[in-house]
Amino acid sequence: MSYTEEIYDRVVAQNPGEPEFHQAVKEVLDSLKLVIDANEEKYRAASLLERLVEPERIISFKVPWVDDNGKVQVNKGYRVQFNSAIGPYKGGLRFHPSVNQGILKFLGFEQIFKNSLTGLPIGGGKGGSNFDPKGKSDREVMAFCQSFMTELSKYIGADQDVPAGDIGVGGREIGFLYGQYKRLTGLYEGVLTGKGLTWGGSLVRTQATGYGLVYILDAMLKDHQMETAGKTIVVSGSGNVAIYAAEKAQQLGAKVVAMSDSNGYIYDPEGIQLDIVKDIKEVRRGRIKEYADQVASAVYTEGKGIWSIKCDIALPCATQNELNLEDAKTLMANGCKIVAEGANMPSTREATDFFLENGFLFLPGKASNAGGVGTSALEMCQNSMRMSWTFEEVDAKLQQMMNDIYAKISDAAKRYGVEGNYVTGANIAGFEKVADAMLAQGIVM
Ligand code: NDP
Repeated sequence: MSYTEEIYDRVVAQNPGEPEFHQAVKEVLDSLKLVIDANEEKYRAASLLERLVEPERIISFKVPWVDDNGKVQVNKGYRVQFNSAIGPYKGGLRFHPSVNQGILKFLGFEQIFKNSLTGLPIGGGKGGSNFDPKGKSDREVMAFCQSFMTELSKYIGADQDVPAGDIGVGGREIGFLYGQYKRLTGLYEGVLTGKGLTWGGSLVRTQATGYGLVYILDAMLKDHQMETAGKTIVVSGSGNVAIYAAEKAQQLGAKVVAMSDSNGYIYDPEGIQLDIVKDIKEVRRGRIKEYADQVASAVYTEGKGIWSIKCDIALPCATQNELNLEDAKTLMANGCKIVAEGANMPSTREATDFFLENGFLFLPGKASNAGGVGTSALEMCQNSMRMSWTFEEVDAKLQQMMNDIYAKISDAAKRYGVEGNYVTGANIAGFEKVADAMLAQGIVM
């Protein structure tokens, strides 16, 4: 049995009931096999893989808060500090009823390699709660955030662990969390990213993940003598990543014809009007269905099915495992051969394999959505310098970062004889830097 297979079996045995974590580890280990086999003695001697798949620490706590009816509610809170080999832990907080320790371990594990790919000094972490901000009043969200931060503040810091937003955690939540951190510690420091522009945030952070996704997509297309302009695109989700991916795609001359939320999807053959989506989602916190009430050319369909819409490019930007093998086959049957992931692990393992076996141009999330955390690291940088860059400066750095990531993953795939396999390329390129740092620092993590 190979070293990578041994470690996968060990992960399954030692982390029962965490299928998403198993899935993420398997995908990474499968693509690292080439590197590991070539350096097996060195990595085995240091038990490097055993150390890589084990979080440095998991903090788990209760979050009691009082709702608008005066009732005490209790949620679960977590922070997974996975790997600090190349910098302080960095990764978002997710507030969603589906959150559990296994999902945060999968996300934290992925984050290690993604952060490494950005070329910036940030380690891997992730956190969150099973709290659902949907339908809660601003006061309830504040009460929850303050309680969550009261516990979390003991374990984070600008040079230690710097959380950010993720599903269910946007500007409002980051504001409440930051205010409470400051009140508890007395420190005005860059402990969270995704802050408001008047209190330490970075321009472009809001747009960064979506813009970055389209920048790297464009870099890949150019490398294959194609362009984004003129393409028809389907974007799933209608949250932060989806909205700004759609915006940049439109700016580059593509037509976005569909978007979704967890209830259903809209199809607008005339091209989605993003100002309306932004008003529904960012201002009114409404449902995507409302778009079809306002736009005559649009049709709303309840339920899943967005991948049945004909397109040239699919950008899954909602959540994990939202695109399965059947969806992948449908995309191909409709002529789509280009997929770039905006969400984390939105394609199931079977769908990913199908893309790779059928000659898709496929960009995995850990490379293609790295612009978000990369720009968060630029926010940390500006906070440390006590200054801020202009929109154009940050946007230029983001675009350069995404071009560099494309170059890195493409080069790693070539070096290991799997040209065009950006899944393997991303895992190898992300891993190499972290593994070197872990070996150099001795048996400390
Ligand atoms: P948001 O909460 O802003 O939006 C998430 C969107 O996905 C919403 O439209 C939501 O619909 C939809 N969605 C959530 N769960 C499901 C589901 N089970 N089925 C269908 N649709 C669903 O989150 P983000 O846009 O920030 O994040 C989206 C993805 O991108 C996540 O995987 C996240 O980890 C990843 N990501 C985000 C980054 C960022 O900077 N924001 C950075 C890197 C990765 P509804 O409103 O109905 O819940």
